[in-house]
Formats: sequence, structure tokens, C-alpha cells
Amino acid sequence: MQAMKPTVELSGKRVLVVGLARTGIATALFCAARGAQVTASEERSAEQVAEAAAKLHAAGVALELGGHRRETFLNQDLIVPSPGVPADAPYLNAARAAGIPVWSEIELAWRFLRGRLIAITGSNGKTTTTALTGHILEAAGIPTLVGGNIGIPLISRVETSSEATVTVAEVSSFQLETIHAFRPDVGVLLNLTPDHLDRHPSFAAYAAAKARMFENQTERDAAVLNADDPHVTEQMPVRPRVYWFSRTRRVAAGTCLRASATLSDNGEEIVFREDGRETVLLHCSEIGLRGAHNVENVLAAAAAAYLAGASPAAIAAGVRSFAGVEHRLEFVAELGGVSFYNDSKATNVDATLKALDAFSGSLLVILGGKDKGGDFTLLAPALKRRARLVLLIGSAAEKIAAQLQGVVPVEQAGTLDRAVHLAYANAQPGDTVLLAPACASFDQFENFEHRGRVFKQLVRQLVQQHAAEVR
Ligand code: ADP
Repeated sequence: MQAMKPTVELSGKRVLVVGLARTGIATALFCAARGAQVTASEERSAEQVAEAAAKLHAAGVALELGGHRRETFLNQDLIVPSPGVPADAPYLNAARAAGIPVWSEIELAWRFLRGRLIAITGSNGKTTTTALTGHILEAAGIPTLVGGNIGIPLISRVETSSEATVTVAEVSSFQLETIHAFRPDVGVLLNLTPDHLDRHPSFAAYAAAKARMFENQTERDAAVLNADDPHVTEQMPVRPRVYWFSRTRRVAAGTCLRASATLSDNGEEIVFREDGRETVLLHCSEIGLRGAHNVENVLAAAAAAYLAGASPAAIAAGVRSFAGVEHRLEFVAELGGVSFYNDSKATNVDATLKALDAFSGSLLVILGGKDKGGDFTLLAPALKRRARLVLLIGSAAEKIAAQLQGVVPVEQAGTLDRAVHLAYANAQPGDTVLLAPACASFDQFENFEHRGRVFKQLVRQLVQQHAAEVR
């Protein structure tokens, strides 16, 4: 039996949705379909959001475009800010002071969602682990929905959910900042490293926001936490059943590695431990993804899927057939013995470090973009060990060059196009050209996906160019 959720009646209620990106649009439509009087407030002008505005207008949503009005915020029964809206924006604070509930979209979605919920958060690996967990559950034949930050907002999954469904949601710290009763059946905290310090007042505030994942959990719920990350262990909750995952030690409950029991095999396997019992889930050689960080993602996903009822055989099959997610250490092409990898999603220093550690040969690393307050000196030891050359792009280039001075050869490339060409020109057979920029992309690209696609296109052009020359 699952614990009851607090009910919510939207019919006839005044609901304000703030921000009209994907999540805001989905939320406004959801509330309108349930009979709420919905207003959508958006900073951008009517011309900039014309398409969304037309769709919402047709659904009976009132629009406030080109800025937010304080009165609008004070005349509501519920406000749902989009994930991009700062939780402490003055108009949200004014509404709270007036006693108006401010809920993130995951709070609203959770209240309507049927079945069980696995929610996954952390600084890095959320998308990979969410996709992998969903993939494993599907392999297990469990009715599965995947949503949240990974692409389809959670609220858009409500309609298709049933009591038998397990929904896997990728959840960000911003969304967790404005929860109230949100309570996943399984909450996963992958790791905590400085990121988004441009939007959170401090690391402690950021860690606390992520730990809100467990705040409403009861003894019936489970928390899955990274035992190898001291910032995560500090956030250990008291009420839910706690399961750990670890790459380095044996855990009392949860997933960890152990030497394979098969005599002829000196590899490792992943086991689930509980109450002194050990269940073998899979062999590490079945993991197709590169890098130690992906072993962590597999440990977390395997634990969550096992807790949701997937069998060891299904977990192994799911891990084996998982091809990874685009822009995360994605192999692009090989040219003249040089491999090209797209890790455009490495938008912070820690993700870049993990990417650097995932390769053994020499690397030509493309770094830079929009700085998020990262400390690039942390890259120095790994770059010294692995990098033949660093190519710098974007607005953070000067800062990175200053912080890496004397560590590795650095070339100011300016654009991604030049960086790709310079990297290839300086590479030797057996080397890897790696885009893992440790920065956001917004100075030169629409988003990290755009940056990754441009990179892949540039690499493919390079391959074609060389093929033409050979002919
Ligand atoms: P998120 O959704 O949290 O941003 P992704 O799965 O999209 O996570 O991966 C983001 C970046 O972090 C990628 O560059 C990836 O190579 C790296 N990464 C993935 N998993 C981990 C992990 N467990 N620890 C550190 N870095 C990781």
C-alpha cells in the first residue's frame, strides 16, 4: 500500500504559470484542461513567444507577456514557476508573503501522477542514470514512464500513468527548491559537486536543495545515495530506508562491486546487498559505457531498478543494451587513427574531470564557453597527465588560460570550428579529440545540444574532406 497523496482540486482555481518554456507551456495546458483559470506570465515579448502564446490562447489561458506584474502574482490561488525562474524572485516572495502557495511543476505533477516514482538528482549523471533506469525497467517488462528535466516534463506524463506505472524522473535542484509534499518512492542522490554556484547563494544552499528530495519520505520509501561522495553522505536522511551505492567499499544495504565468484574470471560484478544477503545483478564487463563515473551511474540505476522490482536478469540485459545518451561521452568518428568524442554536456569542471579520466591515451581537449564560476585549476593534474594540447573557445578562454598557465600547452582557438581543425592538425594516431568544455554554451550556442551537434557536424565535415582528398 502506498501512502496517500494530498489531493488538489484545480477546477475553478486561479493558477499562474511563470515562464513559457517547455515546462511552463505543459503546466499551463495541464491546469487549463482541468478547469483552472490559468494565466501565463513571461518576460519575453509576444513576438518572441508567438507560437506558444497562440497555443495557450486557444486553450483559454490568459497571457501576460513582456514582463511580470506584481498584482497578477497577488491574485492567485497557486503559482507554478518554471525551473528557470529563481525561487527567490521578488514577485514570488511577495506572493508567498501573501499566503499564496508557490509550487514547482514536479510538486504539481507528483500530486496527480499514479503509480510509483523514482526521482533522480545530483550534480552530474542525472540524465544518464534516469535514461538507464527507465531502460532497465522497460527491459524488465514494467510499465515505465521517463520524464522531468530529461525532455518530457513530468506533468506531461500524468495522463498516461496508471497504478502499475513506475515513473523515472530527472529532477534538478531548482525544482526541488519549491516542493512542499513531493515524495518519491525511491529518491536517488548521485553526487554533489559545485555547479550552478551562479544561481545558488552557496554550496551549502545547493546541497540542501538537492537533499530536499528526501524531506517528505517515510519509512516506506527508499533513498539511494552515493557512499563515495562525502558531500552526499552528509545529507543522509533519517526517515526512509537508506541504500548506498559504492565503487570502492562494501555497503550494508545497496549496490557495490565484488570480485567475480567465477574462478576463470578476474573481473568484478555488481551485487545488491541487504540484511546480510548478496544478490549478483550483473558483471562489470556488461557495461558498455566508458569511464568510472558511468560505473557509478550503473550502480545507482541498478539499485533503483532492483528496488522497483526489476530482476537481476533484466538489470543485466538493460545495462548491456544501453547505448548511452547523446552528448555524453558520445563517440563521433575516427579519422587517421584519431577518435573524436562529444561530451558537450560536460558543462562543469567535475564532469570534465570525469571525461578526462575515461580515456587512457593522449587527449586534445576543447575547453571553454560561458563560465559558471568554475575553478579550472582543478583540471590541472588530469590535464598534465592526459592532454597533449588544450584548445580554448568562448568567453571563458582568458580565465582558463590564466588558470592553466604552465600546466599544458594551450591554444586560443576562439571558435569551435577552429578548435576542431587545430586539434586534428596537432593530433597523432591513437589520440582522442575530446569536447568536454567545463562551461555552459550560451555565449556561442543556443544550448549544449546545439554545441554538441555543431561539433559532430564539424567532425563529419573533416572526415568527408579527408575522404575527398584521399580520392
Ligand atoms: P546531468 O543530467 O546531471 O547533467 P548527464 O548524464 O547529462 O548528467 O551527464 C553530464 C555530464 O557529466 C557528462 O559530461 C557526463 O560525461 C558527466 N557525468 C555523467 N555521469 C557522471 C557522474 N556520475 N559523475 C560525474 N560526472 C558524470
